[in-house]
Amino acid sequence: MSVDAILEVQARLKPGVRVGVITGAGISRASGLPTYRGLGGLYDDPAEGAATMEALSARTWRADPERTWAALASLARPGVAALPNPAHLALARLEERNEVTILTQNVDGLHQRAGSQRVIEIHGSLARALCLACDDGYPMPPEFPGVHPPRCPRCRSILRPDVVLFEERLPMGKLARIERELLLNPPEILIAVGTSALFSYVNAPFLQAHASGSLTVEVNPEPTALTPFARLVFRDPAELLLPRLFAL
Ligand SMILES: [Zn+2]
Repeated sequence: MSVDAILEVQARLKPGVRVGVITGAGISRASGLPTYRGLGGLYDDPAEGAATMEALSARTWRADPERTWAALASLARPGVAALPNPAHLALARLEERNEVTILTQNVDGLHQRAGSQRVIEIHGSLARALCLACDDGYPMPPEFPGVHPPRCPRCRSILRPDVVLFEERLPMGKLARIERELLLNPPEILIAVGTSALFSYVNAPFLQAHASGSLTVEVNPEPTALTPFARLVFRDPAELLLPRLFAL
């Protein structure tokens, strides 16, 4: 852990400074969530698990929603007891003195459970489900991740997971938030945590911040596509580094 680099971040991180944070599966590793073929890991490495990808496709969802729910349940089961770790908690506390926008690829809902308010869950969340018949959303019912697909508490229809399935478009409203909060007016500091950043919509805010002279910081055990655009790089575990970085 480089003390000089930590001091450099702290010198720029004055109260009120706008901070953008991009997170991927790596931030939830210390919560016990598997990153390999796991939630989030699925999206971090779409080359893995062709059968799982097929089960989680829009086509399968339309033809056989029970199969999609079964695949989601087997992905979610290992993380049922997962709690926010010190990295999630440090980001939530940072909101008390800075304007923070988190763009996460994870569907585990752990940023919100830690207390973060401004989170763009670009791939959705398994903490919620939708009823297409009632045109309404609900907290994920307790029968998930079980044997049977969760059903609407009102009309008993099979719910739809509130996640972006393969072959589906990203939600326009969330893409608009990325543009408004991270691209058009880049934050003064942009931190990428635990993401191998394979997707252009995740990379773009980091590259934009770099081009506009913001302080770009990467926190990841391995080099990634973002590393050449990071002014500071930390190879430390996020749950150890972030609380120190924010002096919390
Ligand atoms: Zn319903």
